[in-house]
Amino acid sequence: MTKPRMPIPGPKATIRSLGIVAMLTLSSALAAQEAEPAVSNELIVTLLGTGTPGADPSRYGYSNLVQAGEITLLIDAGRGAPVRINQMGLRVGSIDGVFLTHFHSDHINGLGDVFMTGYLTGPIGGREEPMRLIGPRGTVRIAEGLETAYRVDAEIRIDDEGVPEDATFISAHEAQSGVVFDQDGVTVTAFETHHGEAIKPSVGYRIDYAGKSVGFSGDVANDAGIIEHLQGVDLLVHSVATAPTEMLDLPFVKRVLSHHISPQDAGRTFAQTQPNMAVYSHVGRLGDGEVRMTDLVEATRQTYGGPLTVGEDLMQFRIGDDGLAIVSARD
Ligand SMILES: [Zn+2]
Ligand SMILES: [Zn+2]
Repeated sequence: MTKPRMPIPGPKATIRSLGIVAMLTLSSALAAQEAEPAVSNELIVTLLGTGTPGADPSRYGYSNLVQAGEITLLIDAGRGAPVRINQMGLRVGSIDGVFLTHFHSDHINGLGDVFMTGYLTGPIGGREEPMRLIGPRGTVRIAEGLETAYRVDAEIRIDDEGVPEDATFISAHEAQSGVVFDQDGVTVTAFETHHGEAIKPSVGYRIDYAGKSVGFSGDVANDAGIIEHLQGVDLLVHSVATAPTEMLDLPFVKRVLSHHISPQDAGRTFAQTQPNMAVYSHVGRLGDGEVRMTDLVEATRQTYGGPLTVGEDLMQFRIGDDGLAIVSARD
């Protein structure tokens, strides 16, 4: 069953539509309203949250929105994901599928909010079917836990507000490799990654649409899987971790860094994967120290000279037939 879709918004699309509307006569405006809108073949990736477990108000929890034609997908759902989705002018209920890379808190602590806000009947929700959730082994257990934890709210809202009962459930599917989603020309392929011996399973994703591609490393400790599965993608959204030199001997910092790739090693991965654009997300502070973005880029440049962007919340990448456009929320 196909549900009505919200139009794909975004800074550029908004500006373009305003320009077109100004030029239309009344009759052509009415005709345009009746015509089926052409399905865009742009692949649009928005970094909703680029942070880590630290509760940083400028970098929300790790989460990414992918818009491809009529499909809208979420890759991880860290803290604040529904706030950022709302800032984009989208309904949380319009998400067609949520994909999890692994189960660290910073990747799933917005998941319950996406689930519950999505089934609200007001303008922010609107989902009428179960939330589709796809992730590695353990995803079903999380889905069952969320359904149980929030059942009281669901039952109240079904009775009191007419929330569709179907929307208060999660359709969860576990998969760690191969094509895990294939709908309306959009395919999502999962592959196993390495995020540390104690942090298993963990996966990355590649999304293909209309000849364009984006890859998400998730959290990785090395290049395992990335070079093989994300070779030559248009956009590579990659995690990284570093710390000021004076903090490198602290046990907490050592442990965190052992689970995350360094900028120098990430640069080596980029050099071998050769994306059209490499983007850092999952960027944050360790302890009380602030990692300067210039240091991050400088360290990466020791091993990689290609296209590189340090991501920020709500930064948008629009991959069209003519190439890549980057729209910063700060522009
Ligand atoms: Zn992690
Ligand atoms: Zn993380």
